[in-house]
Amino acid sequence: MTERQGACACGQLTVTCAGEPVRVSVCHCLECQRRSGAPFAQQARWPAEAVTVHGNATTFQRVGDSGGAIAFRFCPVCGTTVCFEVDRMPGFVAVPVGVFADPAFPSPTYSIYEARKHRWVTVAGDVDHHD
Ligand SMILES: [Zn+2]
Ligand SMILES: [Zn+2]
Repeated sequence: MTERQGACACGQLTVTCAGEPVRVSVCHCLECQRRSGAPFAQQARWPAEAVTVHGNATTFQRVGDSGGAIAFRFCPVCGTTVCFEVDRMPGFVAVPVGVFADPAFPSPTYSIYEARKHRWVTVAGDVDHHD
């Protein structure tokens, strides 16, 4: 089975994901822009039992546009978010794709909040586009 390991920038917090992700998406919403520091965020979702986190994490929780809470786990030393859980998607954990530092990671098939998309960004390939 495929196993991928991601890590925060300083390396003390790691996330291991077994098997292929069930969904890979990019989100252009303003909250994802702030969290990631980038014009959009890419994340992959696995069943919770496929994801293992090691190291010290701090949790930041916010309420999403849909009204559900989202809990982000990040490294208190370097600030990298290594995973997050969305109340409206019980049983799944999402991992920001950048923590894998793997340019060959599967491409996104969903692109959401495109109403907030930076004008220069184009999400190519076989993608479901949503405003
Ligand atoms: Zn760190
Ligand atoms: Zn978002």
